[in-house]
Amino acid sequence: MMKVRRYLRGSGRILGFVFIASVIWLLLDMAALRISLNDVNSQLLKEEVIKERQLFKQQSRVTQLMKRGFKHPVQRVDLAAEHAGTEPLNSSIKLAHVYRQGGKKRDQLLGDKKMNSLHHQGDALLHPKHVGNEHKEGAGAKNATPKQGDPAKKKAVDLDLNGAKLEKSLDGSNKVVASNKIQVPPGVQGKKHPPLPFLEREPIKAEDAETKAPKKVDSKKQEKEVKEEPKHEFGKKASKHKAEKLHPMKATSKPQNKDIKGREVNIKKEDKQVHGKAESNQNAVKGILKPAIKLKAGKDSKEKANAVRKSGVHKVLSLDATNVPRDVNAVGQFGQAANVASDENFEVRKRWNEGHFNVYLSDQIPVDRAIPDTRPRDCSRKLVHDDLPSTSVIFCFVDEVWSTLLRSVHSVLNRSPPHLLKEIILVDDFSTKEYLKEKLDKYMLQFPKVRIIRLKERQGLIRARLAGAAAAKGEVLTFLDSHIECNVGWLEPLLERVYLDHRKVPCPVIEVISDKDMSYMLVDNFQRGIFKWPLVFGWSPLPEEYIKKHNMTISDPIRCPVMAGGLFSISKKYFYELGSYDPGLDVWGGENMEISFKIWMCGGEIEIIPCSRVGHIFRGQNPYKFPKDRQKTVERNLARVAEVWLDEYKDLFYSHGYQHLLDKSDIGNLTEQIELRKKLKCKSFKWYLDNVYPDMEAPLVKAEGLLFNQGLRRCLSLQDGSPVFEICDSSHQSQHFNYTWLRLLRQNDQCVAAKGKGQGFALQPCDNTKPELHWFYKSSTSLADHLIAEYVSLHMCLEADPHNESVDLNPCDSRNFYQKWQFTHYNAH
Ligand code: UDP
Ligand code: MN
Repeated sequence: MMKVRRYLRGSGRILGFVFIASVIWLLLDMAALRISLNDVNSQLLKEEVIKERQLFKQQSRVTQLMKRGFKHPVQRVDLAAEHAGTEPLNSSIKLAHVYRQGGKKRDQLLGDKKMNSLHHQGDALLHPKHVGNEHKEGAGAKNATPKQGDPAKKKAVDLDLNGAKLEKSLDGSNKVVASNKIQVPPGVQGKKHPPLPFLEREPIKAEDAETKAPKKVDSKKQEKEVKEEPKHEFGKKASKHKAEKLHPMKATSKPQNKDIKGREVNIKKEDKQVHGKAESNQNAVKGILKPAIKLKAGKDSKEKANAVRKSGVHKVLSLDATNVPRDVNAVGQFGQAANVASDENFEVRKRWNEGHFNVYLSDQIPVDRAIPDTRPRDCSRKLVHDDLPSTSVIFCFVDEVWSTLLRSVHSVLNRSPPHLLKEIILVDDFSTKEYLKEKLDKYMLQFPKVRIIRLKERQGLIRARLAGAAAAKGEVLTFLDSHIECNVGWLEPLLERVYLDHRKVPCPVIEVISDKDMSYMLVDNFQRGIFKWPLVFGWSPLPEEYIKKHNMTISDPIRCPVMAGGLFSISKKYFYELGSYDPGLDVWGGENMEISFKIWMCGGEIEIIPCSRVGHIFRGQNPYKFPKDRQKTVERNLARVAEVWLDEYKDLFYSHGYQHLLDKSDIGNLTEQIELRKKLKCKSFKWYLDNVYPDMEAPLVKAEGLLFNQGLRRCLSLQDGSPVFEICDSSHQSQHFNYTWLRLLRQNDQCVAAKGKGQGFALQPCDNTKPELHWFYKSSTSLADHLIAEYVSLHMCLEADPHNESVDLNPCDSRNFYQKWQFTHYNAH
């Protein structure tokens, strides 16, 4: 017996030892597994970043190659204009398909022959057509509004970017009547509603919906899956995906809009889910908060890149919290279009001018309404770092409508991870409305993160933003307009880019909140901000070849030559490194050009982040007053930008309708801005065009080369400052002339001057402000090849004198060949 006991004691020890050893082994194993999961995630993210960098590097090269491929760049512009109503539209329809297919590789989809029919059926089911936002152009309103599926409208937008009304003047240049305003992005989908939220990530396939009976869904199983979601934060892709698939918000295949009653039921069902989702996300936030506090974000972007492996990552949080249950029957709920009864039209009209949108309707829509999650499908599965920098969201406003201001603020509070939202700063730019004073203060008291700064006099958007930035405590500044709605998961993808490189300036995709029915609308994918002369902002799709070549998905960041201006994040440190905005810019306008050129030319990058989406009400007019003339204010701002940033390309700006600004008397002092550019060692505007916006045609002169006289059949040459005619020979520099955008006839820095009749020829140092140096050329049909003196009254033309081979100024005669001149190259007409 004793033996047995001893034996057992002895073996018990051994058993105990074995047990402890296996526990330790298990623990070590788990730790290793955890590390390796983190590693895998980090590695994935890192690979993505590397892929993207390569993509960006290649972008400029490829587009340059494409550019070289076109022999006649000018014709290419014409071609683009001609086809604006057809080709680009087709491509945008295709892109809309891709959008709906949710992040699949483009090539796969474009190859799918079924796509068209699927698209149409899908539309009928899902309602996600681009909705037209028909702005009426008021005085100075510039928003041309494209409608998908309407080539004519699309064309109008492509040709009239930013809706600037351009008038042809005698000299053939364009006179600008109005100027920059954030533009409605193209492909806003026409007259259809956005998808209902329960369809948002699992669109029903047309054939599924038409033929199959509604799926039965095990709601208990779903709930379990959803609750377990935070556990799957790291690495367990498959199960998370499963959870998403089974998420009740998407688990219905009933053809929704065929049955209104059915829809209501589903909406109610969805409403419950909104909370479930919000709660599960709250849990996820708690999980993220810990590492975020422990790991302080590194300072330098290189450090950050190295830190990729060290820091944890998690899936983007798709938060949508709200304090009170959402009323599913509320007006405009889920971003749906809301209509007013015809007997209320009077009210609508009466209140329209308060904001230049449907204020009457806006006031009836809940300030925390839900909107459809319009992100490409893979966005919710993207990984971001646990230790992202925090941000201060800055809203500047002047006389903003109460309900839209509140909806803007609530959308940020409800849909931003709390640990990343340092504060919301409301900068009141000396509003006159009573409700924006004490009432606003009181309302915002319930949100400790909201601060209000009151400016003592009207400063304008630009200086108001500067005031907000100066007060901000977050590491990143996020500027937003005061009539927006941030969509779920909007913030982390922006901050992630700044985290990866503090010189990246990310912008969300700006979606459209209808000014008429306040519905939330989708826009085309692959759009980037660009400008046309004279610095008019617009949207343009990435070239298809480029998208294909790089196998780009709809969720990849898009390099953006110019930002729209209203909505973006920027590292606070970098914002000040760049000298912030030029404080000499007044009120509104041109600041997006200034900051865009500055960012690109001084080492940064502007990107559009398709996984971050924010709706914005595009209005036909600014509802607030300008302290000075609106047109003059914007022109003056743009001239400041042109003088500081455009180098020799500023001629293109002035020549497109801004000649009257050439004397520069009113644009203020530029010394500091010019000094800043030198100090930052910023690159040239030519570099910007070549590398960032290579598809922009920006020839420095309108025509160049030899100047051939049709009567003499010889070329003009300058010998010791005197005109002679020689046999044309392009190797002779003395025969080379330029015809500039500002209509000078120039050889090096010498320009041909018009003297009085019969007084012959004179050369003068070039100076754009001297009227005697200006010549019309190609500006009239009957005198198309004539060089008409602008200075001398009534039609005097430059004429070759066949006797002494000199040139003279004589009354214009359309049949006189000695008055007809031709250049070797024409870059623009
Ligand atoms: N804003 C401002 N002061 C001004 C002009 C504009 O604070 O003098 C604000 C305005 O309330 C809005 C933002 O700046 O929140 C952008 O202006 P707006 O929406 O009129 O520009 P758009 O979107 O039409 O380009
Ligand atoms: Mn705006």
